[in-house]
Amino acid sequence: MAKILIVDDSRIIRRVLTGTLTEAGYEIAGEAANGEEALEKLKTIKPDLVTLDITMPIMDGLETLDHIRKEYPDLKVIMISAAGQKTKVLQALKAGALDFIRKPFEKDEMLEVLAKYI
Ligand SMILES: [Mg+2]
Repeated sequence: MAKILIVDDSRIIRRVLTGTLTEAGYEIAGEAANGEEALEKLKTIKPDLVTLDITMPIMDGLETLDHIRKEYPDLKVIMISAAGQKTKVLQALKAGALDFIRKPFEKDEMLEVLAKYI
């Protein structure tokens, strides 16, 4: 089953995502609370897809996406955005993110988006 790395500074969001994705049969490759942690984890784990929060301290989602695109060009990335982040979402899609999921998300909607790519 496809392995997913969850990147979000909110522990609650990470927990919800982990629960929903595990329940749907995905394997959680790991969790990271910011971009720096995510890049560190990517040195050792090989997920099929990353869910990447946009707003995070230390290194945000857009900067993380740039690094991922350069270092792991084939890695699939789906952005997790909040309301009012349309500009940043468009920027991320332009930079190579496949899609986005908007918070607060409905389980089914979220799984539908993921199922398009893995
Ligand atoms: Mg956040």
